[in-house]
Amino acid sequence: MTFEDLKIIKPILQAVQEIGYNTPSPIQQQAIPIVLSGNDLIGCAQTGTGKTAAFAIPALQRITENKKTGNTAPKVLVLTPTRELAGQISENFTLFSKHLRIRQSLIYGGVSAVNQIAILKKGVDVIIATPGRLLDLAGQNQVSLKDIEILVLDEADTMLDMGFINDIKKILAFLPTKRQTLFFSATMPSSIRKFATSILKQPQEINLN
Ligand code: AMP
Repeated sequence: MTFEDLKIIKPILQAVQEIGYNTPSPIQQQAIPIVLSGNDLIGCAQTGTGKTAAFAIPALQRITENKKTGNTAPKVLVLTPTRELAGQISENFTLFSKHLRIRQSLIYGGVSAVNQIAILKKGVDVIIATPGRLLDLAGQNQVSLKDIEILVLDEADTMLDMGFINDIKKILAFLPTKRQTLFFSATMPSSIRKFATSILKQPQEINLN
């Protein structure tokens, strides 16, 4: 299978080729068609499997295809447990959107929020965030999440282990209920599955463990 077979649009395909990816990894082969079809997804997969591209590529494709001129509100929200992971995801979005007009912001705690707020005020399409700081900014009306079309929960088990469950629940209250949700976790104990089922709608399931 090739990325062309996955019906990836030309500007993203070109970026993928420039990065040097030849063949989609198993999670990409399975996840990309599900995400492009608009379904919710629950994926059990470790870091290192190509999981980031498995959600970043089709999320970018969907917001590019749905894009209405003049809408500067964020449309994709990725929640991830750590600043390091947020940075890696952001780098992936930058690479895959090289030939698209997509703006993104990286939101995490432990640093001043001034620059993060300034970027948000200019209008972004994609937010990649750790939960605590994003909740602070949403609570202060520094960002509106009401136009989010795709929510990605990355490394959900780690986020729950780190005690982010209440922050995530509060962030969910800022999001539209009509949205696509992609839920990734390296492990799927019953507590995680229960949480996933409570926020997903008829999800397709992928298990690469
Ligand atoms: P991830 O699981 O998203 O952290 O990705 C793990 C590593 O695999 C990263 O270094 C990616 O650049 C690389 N990678 C992801 N997808 C592919 C692919 N289809 N072909 C080659 N390398 C890839």
